[in-house]
Amino acid sequence: MFKTVLIANRGEIACRVIRTAKRLGLRTVAVYSQADAKALHVTLADEAHLIGPAAAAQSYLAADKIIAAAKAARADCIHPGYGFLSENAAFAQSCADAGIAFIGPPPSAMLAMGLKDRAKALMEKANVPVVPGYHGERQEPKFLKEKAYETGYPVLIKAVAGGGGKGMRRVDRHADFDTALEGAQREAQSAFGDARVLIEKYITAPRHIEMQVFADTHGNAIHLNERDCSLQRRHQKVIEEAPAPGMSAVLRAEMGEAAVAAAKACGYVGAGTIEFIADGAGGLKSGGFWFMEMNTRLQVEHPVTEAITGLDLVEWQFQIAAGEKLPLKQDQVTLDGHAVEARLYAEDPERGFLPSTGKLIALKFPSGEDLRVDTGVTAGDEVTPFYDPMIAKLIAHGKTREQALSVLANALDNTIVAGPRSNAGFLAALCRAPHFRAGEFDTGFIDGHLADLGAVPQGLDKAAAALGAREILAHERARIAAAAERDADAIRSPWDADDGFQLSGPRRQIVPILADGEKAVAHVMQERSGPVVTIDGITAAGDAVAVATDDAVYVLRHGRQTRVALRDLSLDEGGDGAGGGTVRAPMHGKVLSVLVEEGASVTRGQRLAIIEAMKMEHTLVAPLDGTVSEIAVAKDDQVAEGAKVIVIVADP
Ligand code: ADP
Ligand code: ADP
Ligand code: MG
Repeated sequence: MFKTVLIANRGEIACRVIRTAKRLGLRTVAVYSQADAKALHVTLADEAHLIGPAAAAQSYLAADKIIAAAKAARADCIHPGYGFLSENAAFAQSCADAGIAFIGPPPSAMLAMGLKDRAKALMEKANVPVVPGYHGERQEPKFLKEKAYETGYPVLIKAVAGGGGKGMRRVDRHADFDTALEGAQREAQSAFGDARVLIEKYITAPRHIEMQVFADTHGNAIHLNERDCSLQRRHQKVIEEAPAPGMSAVLRAEMGEAAVAAAKACGYVGAGTIEFIADGAGGLKSGGFWFMEMNTRLQVEHPVTEAITGLDLVEWQFQIAAGEKLPLKQDQVTLDGHAVEARLYAEDPERGFLPSTGKLIALKFPSGEDLRVDTGVTAGDEVTPFYDPMIAKLIAHGKTREQALSVLANALDNTIVAGPRSNAGFLAALCRAPHFRAGEFDTGFIDGHLADLGAVPQGLDKAAAALGAREILAHERARIAAAAERDADAIRSPWDADDGFQLSGPRRQIVPILADGEKAVAHVMQERSGPVVTIDGITAAGDAVAVATDDAVYVLRHGRQTRVALRDLSLDEGGDGAGGGTVRAPMHGKVLSVLVEEGASVTRGQRLAIIEAMKMEHTLVAPLDGTVSEIAVAKDDQVAEGAKVIVIVADP
């Protein structure tokens, strides 16, 4: 076995690998960027090395710096986690060249499976069913369009170098093909430096079902059952479970056999996942599944497999990389109960799931025997725009699917995230969605139920805002009392008696607040039992959690966050002006292109500019009919969240 492992990753997966490595008696070495100096994975490791600035390209993706750190720390192996360098064959080769074991497959297997077109060609040879379509060399738009027509709509355009759902476009009509191809190619070029695509038949009622495989260096390969990852947004997994609802033992064996054949065909070693797309129309059935891709690494959702098999997949990874044999034979692999995982993200479901960065004012998870929480952050940490905004994974295990889903939904209800917005409420709603619970779902489920799941703008939660105002009042009272003890004149506040606000007396007081950036007025009545606060006649909520900081109160209610602050009336002037025609960047990002010129007349909904953030494109559109009076950015500019991009003057 190894003595020292360097973990070439960050966040929850780095922490999770460290946990097993320590249990196995390994010395653990973390690497970190400047943005992560105080991160949990750095604290957990026995030793940590700074490898560069925040940008991943100069830190977590900088292979040479990581190898240098491994040498300095005398690590005899490197675990890459997922994402970053985990599927980079050149990095695996550099490890080997430096005499350090790479905890993953040989570079040759990564190369064989790394590009989707090549992988599909290899699978066809190994008699593994692949999705019909075109995955050849030719890339002329006209030719690809012909192939799409031949394949038959709907089709999916996929980046051959794709991952994380990027560079993918579904096309339903021949007329839409050119635009979709352009978008897919542009996204692929920017995310992977490779614009090449393939065309696939879009399977209707698709279910994403993947098999966990493991192979050793002695020629053995087995599978550890399937996972169902059909609950997706933008082709990215949201909730994953094992086993797959509706899966029979016979079909599991059939899929497992195909997965093992796929692993053997590429000379695989270690942990890998074969992703299949299954036709879910009328239920899963023999022959109704096709190879999509192989992920040659540990998967984000591996904990559901660990829950139902009772195994530690990271432990197996170490053992196999050390040359040991697979610990179990296929018929010794068990399947106990049901497990479900939810990915908790710092994002705002009500605003198109935009990443929501900032300091985690509060972060608390419930605990329980049937609940596992994998996280890489703690309260006080910052969710930065540099990395994937995943906060944690919550994994519930139950005797039945019903039970696991209930445990998970309750755990999400009792999870506290304050500061950045989170998808906790959305995930809980998903766990409770009747059709999902009944096992009636496919990959279109989330998009088809956004409103039911609360992922639409819902307007201000006035009961929560009123509670926030009440908390501010209490906070201010304490502050004033404390200041008065020291020096009565040192502090001024809207709650001071001399500008019309009073903390006692029978009068109704009026307090201007900002709730989620919206102006509101809280009415405060002093009752014997304490202050009663209302907004538009709605009383402060009793079923919420409030977290106070010096300048705001964060109220969490029914999975939603409402940020309440006192409004300084002197700042009410300015702003966007009455026209509301200022188009701002919805998040930190880079301007990919500006599509209009100054003086151009535009119509409401017209595309104005494209901003790229987290490798995803966001299109800014005109909020009203009018004329472009100002363009505040240029192509390739970096823009901050809320920055002015374009100003439109409304038509008279
Ligand atoms: P999975 O099926 O495991 O979700 P993906 O291909 O979607 O596989 O990506 C794995 C995970 O790694 C995703 O959650 C993605 O957000 C994350 N990831 C991928 N690339 C990066 C990167 N460069 N930096 C940070 N996280 C990444
Ligand atoms: P990535 O490398 O980005 O994970 P995949 O090829 O695994 O790309 O596809 C991502 C997701 O897109 C799948 O999980 C599935 O939901 C959907 N998808 C992929 N191929 C098809 C297809 N042919 N038909 C329907 N949906 C598909
Ligand atoms: Mg995939």
